[in-house]
Amino acid sequence: MPELPEVTAIATFLDSRAAGLPIRRVDVASLAVLKTADPAYTALAGRTVSAVDRIGKYLIIRTVPGADGGDPEMDLVIHLSRAGWVRWSDALSQTPPKPGGKGPIALRVHCGLPGEGFDVTEAGTQKRLAAWIVRDTDDVERIATLGPDVLSLSRDRLAEILAGSAARVKNLLTDQRVIAGVGNAYSDEILHVARLSPFATSKNLSGEQITALYDATRSVLLDAVTRLEGQEVARLKSEKRTGLRVHARTGLPCPVCGDVVREVSFADRSFQYCPTCQTGGKILADRRMSRLLK
Ligand SMILES: [Zn+2]
Repeated sequence: MPELPEVTAIATFLDSRAAGLPIRRVDVASLAVLKTADPAYTALAGRTVSAVDRIGKYLIIRTVPGADGGDPEMDLVIHLSRAGWVRWSDALSQTPPKPGGKGPIALRVHCGLPGEGFDVTEAGTQKRLAAWIVRDTDDVERIATLGPDVLSLSRDRLAEILAGSAARVKNLLTDQRVIAGVGNAYSDEILHVARLSPFATSKNLSGEQITALYDATRSVLLDAVTRLEGQEVARLKSEKRTGLRVHARTGLPCPVCGDVVREVSFADRSFQYCPTCQTGGKILADRRMSRLLK
């Protein structure tokens, strides 16, 4: 799932390609993806992309009116969810993608010269990608209720948030209403660098542990942003994987201490950690993992 570093890279890339370009047409291949009806998606045609940026894990394509006038602000907001992605093309088909088709294309935005523009795609059968067209990004309830952006937090603000929560630190870090931008993969990485157990209780962290968590949050995310900067969008996924130390590396050696990276799995997700680095050697209960090791 794209998190802060990937969404930042996609936004930077799309901004460099699309900002300043007039939108010729928007095709919607999957109506289920579109969460708003007013303004209509057809109202984007004739407007100009002014900028592409990020709020939390949401991609914001901002537009201003074209020569024909219209709303002063209109934004196409995209949440890529687990398997969503953006693909720029100089050779888009002018034939609209089939609505309800089985292909990966959810939305197609024609902007600039004929053939130019981008597809918003989603792989797999579980369709969770979401798009909104709004006159104000706060009209998207999930954006209006986001916590502060993770990179905007000071160490003291993070300490306050932790002190007020009895949640496991792994859950707190990934709860977008509390802190925006971090998901399952980067929270695994942050906790590994901070040498914290995913199951640690947020309000019980010591001052030293809070500082370690704050420093790890910044170093992991900023390193990833720097590494992904300027990468082709198509290469972001593999580039993200090569930077990971524990996430999705179950059974492989921890790059810091050599211990075996372990996993805790739930019905629909799993996370990874290093016992030596993070839990004082303790192996967290996981039925599936213990079955694998028998
Ligand atoms: Zn380790």
